[in-house]
Amino acid sequence: MTQQKPGKSQLSLSNGRHYLAIPGPSVMPDRVLQAMHRAAPNIYTGDLIDLTHSIVPDLKAIAGTRHDVAMYIANGHGAWEAAVSNTLSRGDKVLVLATGRFAIGWAEMARMMGVECDIIDFGKRDTIDLNRVEDALRADSAQAYKAVLAVQVDTSTSVRNDISALRGALDAARHPALLMVDCIACLGCDAFEMDAWGVDVMVTGCQKGLMTPPGMSFVFFNDKADAARETARNVSHYWDWRPRVNPEEYYMFFDGTAPTHHLYGLREALDMIAEEGLDNVLTRHKVLAQAVWAAFETWAQTGPIELNIQEAALRSHAVTSVRIGSPSGTALRDWMSQQAGVTLGIGLGMAPPGDPAWHGFFRVGHMGHVNAHMVLGTLATLEAGLLALDIPHAPGGVAAAAKVVASSGAA
Ligand SMILES: *Cc1c(COP(=O)(O)O)cnc(C)c1O
Repeated sequence: MTQQKPGKSQLSLSNGRHYLAIPGPSVMPDRVLQAMHRAAPNIYTGDLIDLTHSIVPDLKAIAGTRHDVAMYIANGHGAWEAAVSNTLSRGDKVLVLATGRFAIGWAEMARMMGVECDIIDFGKRDTIDLNRVEDALRADSAQAYKAVLAVQVDTSTSVRNDISALRGALDAARHPALLMVDCIACLGCDAFEMDAWGVDVMVTGCQKGLMTPPGMSFVFFNDKADAARETARNVSHYWDWRPRVNPEEYYMFFDGTAPTHHLYGLREALDMIAEEGLDNVLTRHKVLAQAVWAAFETWAQTGPIELNIQEAALRSHAVTSVRIGSPSGTALRDWMSQQAGVTLGIGLGMAPPGDPAWHGFFRVGHMGHVNAHMVLGTLATLEAGLLALDIPHAPGGVAAAAKVVASSGAA
């Protein structure tokens, strides 16, 4: 999509630092960019080798696991393929739980690899219905499902699924399938506990909560998943997770040249998370998400604006999907970027591209390197856009958000 710049004679208030409020890639901290700004390092000996090893335990701590993590030079789609490659074979069957676009995307990838995917689609505005999952698993009396694939936060709908409760449904059905979870949108934003919640495989990427430019992704797996690797016939040399978690030589971490500068950037991002403390990082995301919801709930009191997920307990702290009716969604996004220097996310997967309804949605990313002024600034700019475009709304959204921030206890 081209961003049209207003002509010289037209007033625009967009000059200044452009703000990317989309659900990934997220805002890159200057510290991360500066850490990457260096000459090419030695890849045989020296700092980079120690730095790479130091990243592993820090990633595991954020994921809440004592098990293994394999790192890939890939985006999230690469981590999806790695997870399927190491655990499944052509002809295997899996159960996919869809609460938006991303579980479907993972299933499409698995299908291309010969895996049979039964998809239960819970729609675009709701969480996983655990009773239906339990029923489907009980009905699989031959226990043909090798894995259950789910997404913790679907970035298109902004629903947050309860992964611990999902584990409970597998256990209640006494089903041995692997539980494989996509945390690409929300690791480091919404709480996640791989071991405590009984997750066997978790995939994530570096460019959302982990604040690093796109290009690295991670697959966490436990012993049960590694046992599946023993028999998986989809595993290829490049995607094999085993050498990556136990590299005899440095190059085996990445099956080739390491992503040198990404590693420096990621190291800095992990330091930033450690300095703030993961609990504080998660609380910051929670409060800022509540400020976003307060603004939209206020505006929504009259007119077409609606939060896509009605129940607050089911909303992600990383991203918010909004319904506003066509063509206001696109009009507001265009106004924000051309007149005010803020880019909002498109309404991914809510309506087919080409359908006029496609223009009735947008998303606000509030993941990673975001603070109160960035979120309040985005919301105040949104309110200006609603006024400028005459989109009906109740007043007071920004004040409601400010109240959340003011009463958060931040001192
Ligand atoms: C962003 C995202 C992906 C895709 O990641 P890419 O890096 O774009 O391949 C997959 N799943 C979820 C939940 C995401 O948010």
